[in-house]
Amino acid sequence: MNTDEFRRHAHAVVDWMADYLDRVEQYPVKAQVRPGEIAARLPPAPPEMGEPVEAILRDFERDLMPGVTHWQHPAFFAYFPANNSPPSILAEMLTAALGLQCMLWQTSPAAAELEGRVLDWLRRMLGLPDGFTGVIQDSASSATLCSILTARERATGWRANEHGLAAVAAETGPMTVYCSAETHSSVEKAVKIAGLGRASLRKIPVDATFAMRPDTLAAAVEADIAAGRKPVCVVATLGTTGASGIDRLRPIGEICRRHGIWLHVDAAWAGAALILPEQRGMLDGIEYADSFVMNPHKWLLTNFDCSAHYVRDPEALIRTLAILPEYLKTPERGQVDDYRDWGIPLGRRFRALKLWFVIRTYGVAALQEMVRKHIALARDAASWIEAETDFELLAPSVLALFCFRYRPRGIDDEQRLDRLNEALLLKLNEGGRAYFTQTRVSGKYAIRFSIGQRTTERRHVEAAWAEIRETARGLER
Ligand code: PLP
Repeated sequence: MNTDEFRRHAHAVVDWMADYLDRVEQYPVKAQVRPGEIAARLPPAPPEMGEPVEAILRDFERDLMPGVTHWQHPAFFAYFPANNSPPSILAEMLTAALGLQCMLWQTSPAAAELEGRVLDWLRRMLGLPDGFTGVIQDSASSATLCSILTARERATGWRANEHGLAAVAAETGPMTVYCSAETHSSVEKAVKIAGLGRASLRKIPVDATFAMRPDTLAAAVEADIAAGRKPVCVVATLGTTGASGIDRLRPIGEICRRHGIWLHVDAAWAGAALILPEQRGMLDGIEYADSFVMNPHKWLLTNFDCSAHYVRDPEALIRTLAILPEYLKTPERGQVDDYRDWGIPLGRRFRALKLWFVIRTYGVAALQEMVRKHIALARDAASWIEAETDFELLAPSVLALFCFRYRPRGIDDEQRLDRLNEALLLKLNEGGRAYFTQTRVSGKYAIRFSIGQRTTERRHVEAAWAEIRETARGLER
């Protein structure tokens, strides 16, 4: 493809993209295909000879689009949002055209210096204190893994990396990590990858607001120390995935400080709400945190992937992850940020560009307006549900998430209610007009209602609620 052809196709693709954003609402939100249906449309072998782009685009539309779940649909209420925006997409196009590898300052000084600056902008927007330095990771899962690895290294005087866990465990005792029973599964994954073993993860029970119980955390830490184990990290969550529990950083942080334990804060989703001054109560006690992660790729209009990872002591992170083969040495080392030492992969995309485009295009005020609108919509939707006698709120609206179930009069058997709500979720998602996912709240099957798409308006939420009512009341019991 020469550049003239590229230009022609690029114009057509941009037109397609703009049309898609305009008409995304016309698609079923969740892909309406069965497993294997898309693969069956694809030839088993690659083409021997190149094909025209027109043919590829035709097949994209015909064979792939039916298997797309539309995350940018205004009636996407599943999981957490991964919203994007036109400026973010423009920046992704430029990123693709530049094709940079941002592993070292030298491999693109603009990328490294923009990353530092834009993450400091974001730090100010979130109300995080001075003294936190940011880096962009691909995901909150990676940021949490890097934090747990750093906590492990700090706790072992950086000897686990050198000698292996078996050698240091003889001196330190088995290392333990703490989170709440509601914490995201990425913490368990990180503990496994860090070689600490799943059995070393203590899942502390939560209170009625789904927040970690600090008294139980303190008791668990003390019991582990008394048994000769070494607590290395506590992960506190702002906005748990199931029902938006907000762990209280101050009492948790005091426990960490008392015992020299690393405190990592996972605010992957809820962190975006910190751009609202009225939500910053969640940060009370942040001075105890060693690291913090939030995802602009969830609720801040920035295309996946872009995870903002802040650390109090970048040297500790770098010392944990740095490698220095001859081929990566540059004369500027030591004077600049070489971000390959701040995360797991060597190669890194130019992710700061899209965040820069987003923050500059919208400004803080419009981003605040969007997040505020989603929070207000969720609060209203929860109140409609609460007002119906045959529905039940299982978790109240916190930020832009709540959980509910259908509970018609006369059915009290929990298993029957679980089955009924499973059937309701399936039917809603098959209908294609809105998309929801489930969780368990205190053991009960619950449907999550999570609001966060850029184009979601009140009418979408009202229509979804009408659909829920109608579908539920039409279910066979
Ligand atoms: N932490 C929380 C609280 C989450 O809700 C999620 C994902 O939804 C994650 C971590 C993982 O995020 P990522 O996909 O960026 O790894």
